[in-house]
Amino acid sequence: MRFADVAGHEAVKELLVRAADRERVPHACLFHGPEGVGKRTIALAFLSYLVCRDRADGDSCGRCVPCRQVSDGTFVDLAVLQPEKGYVKIDAVRDAMPRLYYQPLVGPWKCLLIDDAHAMTLEAANAALKTLEEPPSSTLFVLVTPTPDVLPRTVLSRCFAVPFGPVAAADTVRLLVGRGVEEEAARAATARARGSPGRAIRLLDSPVLAEREDFVKGFLALAGASAEERMRFADGVASSKDDAEDLMDLLESVVQDVLLAAAGAPDAGLRNPDLAEPIREFAGRVGQDRAVRLADVLLEWDANRRYSPAIRVAVDRLVLEIP
Ligand SMILES: [Zn+2]
Repeated sequence: MRFADVAGHEAVKELLVRAADRERVPHACLFHGPEGVGKRTIALAFLSYLVCRDRADGDSCGRCVPCRQVSDGTFVDLAVLQPEKGYVKIDAVRDAMPRLYYQPLVGPWKCLLIDDAHAMTLEAANAALKTLEEPPSSTLFVLVTPTPDVLPRTVLSRCFAVPFGPVAAADTVRLLVGRGVEEEAARAATARARGSPGRAIRLLDSPVLAEREDFVKGFLALAGASAEERMRFADGVASSKDDAEDLMDLLESVVQDVLLAAAGAPDAGLRNPDLAEPIREFAGRVGQDRAVRLADVLLEWDANRRYSPAIRVAVDRLVLEIP
């Protein structure tokens, strides 16, 4: 795992490389920022950099034994904790801790990575805190989370916080194209990925992108449609399980376009410029005030999605708001 394998985050990479080069590596780091932007991958790239036997030009070599082991998950001095059935529990933390007190087997660093650290139970967080307060030498602790506020303050105050932002579209497209994705498909996925290469990669595999046009036209045809037709549409979204969130994101981009179209924005300014015609027609039928209400429903859902992704309720409200 190399820094070069992760799109964007140049400032974060530079910060970590500088800390390693100056031998001032913080023992406990908190990597926080949106989902799917590469926090965990950067953590592994950082560990690679620390243990690489041939690092150069601000990156690990990717070829030496420790580098390869970090990449394929067999590096003995790395433990990764992640939620099981929704929680990182105290037993998992307690099991991982003693290993941190041994000398690293490969060296010179060992690492405990807690992914989705916000899922730690309070007991688990307190168990981790004991080690965070007096970290064993040559230990790198990385907590990764999109929602640091959920963690106890005592834990946060022990960590060096590294904020991650969304990844620029150009960087995401380059990453996807580098992985062999066709440029047009890469752009389409990136446009709906909201700065998250992880989401873009997921979208490429999801039927959402392939059926996007039909889905959007189906939504736009709901203006003036019967209650049954609306409910059928809502059923389709809510029952699409793993894709439901992506469909909601797609609807969000469409409603945003409706608002823009109602305000007279040019086609090129829309997020779905290829569907400008049906979007304009819909905007003309619903009017600006109603478009604002549609956007409100989606924004409210989006703001709460982490806590209760009640897609069914949101999509019902949405289709019923359409005149
Ligand atoms: Zn290496």
